[in-house]
Amino acid sequence: FFSKWKEALNRTSKAAFGRLATVFGATEIDEFTWEELEALLLQADLGIQTTQEILNVLQKKAAQQGIIRASDLRNLLRSELIQRLDPAPPIDLDHHKPAVVLIVGVNGSGKTTTIAKLGKKYSQQGKKVLLGAADTFRAAAVDQLEIWAERLNLPIVSGQPNADPGAVAYDTIQAAISRNVDLVFIDTAGRLHTRYNLMEELKKVYRVSGKALPGAPHATWLVLDATTGQNALQQAKAFKEAVQITGIILAKLDSSARGGMAFAIQKELGIPILFAGLGEQPDDLQPFDREAFVDGILA
Ligand code: GDP
Repeated sequence: FFSKWKEALNRTSKAAFGRLATVFGATEIDEFTWEELEALLLQADLGIQTTQEILNVLQKKAAQQGIIRASDLRNLLRSELIQRLDPAPPIDLDHHKPAVVLIVGVNGSGKTTTIAKLGKKYSQQGKKVLLGAADTFRAAAVDQLEIWAERLNLPIVSGQPNADPGAVAYDTIQAAISRNVDLVFIDTAGRLHTRYNLMEELKKVYRVSGKALPGAPHATWLVLDATTGQNALQQAKAFKEAVQITGIILAKLDSSARGGMAFAIQKELGIPILFAGLGEQPDDLQPFDREAFVDGILA
């Protein structure tokens, strides 16, 4: 399990933290140590503010604890990084039947693949899962989700091209109620286009879900592409303004050299990171584990 994270975080670790060996290899802490550390935290996309805060804390602790050997900073850095990530809260979807989860995110972020992964994970846990393909603006998105559904043997409700996404969400939830489904994952549109208001549409899907089943959606998870680093943060802010995001899924951590963005996301959004996408296959979704994550990037 740990090796899976290590392998997946190889790029982030190589791109930035690989240089830690040089930093911590020096015998005594000096100016160079802090400069190098700053450079590599920035390179891993932790963001300027988080980087500065971490440096300040480490400098203070090093002084307090009388640390002079650079190698002794490694543990300080590790615990500081871990502590900056919230432990992933338990995901409790058992109290609703069906529990409805909206999956939001921009096109290309890994949304469809993530829904397939979630569907597989939960159906393996014995839940009766139903997928809803409400990204009707993109025929390819519906097709792709249908292909996954067939491969994974998961039932799906799909919208016709250009059908009203809200209506598809409504139909999916209705179908879930009548078929005694436990868990519904609904794919939503993610087209970032100037003359089209993605956020208004999302709000509508959100509202309509609540009409189909009072209390729904019970969770709204935002899929972010970890390879886009700090850009993902800007997207996340826009989504957060439109609908209540209850969790984040960091897709493509394995192909990212900017895994450090997780810290900025946590700090600026205050939304827990629930899962990480560690590959393209349906099994490559892991509950976010902050220790495995930090050990992976520091490897
Ligand atoms: P969508 O447009 O947001 O629905 O994105 P897709 O699910 O189609 O994913 C876009 C691309 O990213 C596809 O080639 C996926 O195979 C790939 N992808 C999705 N999640 C991951 C992941 O966790 N790791 C890697 N390496 N690739 C991923």
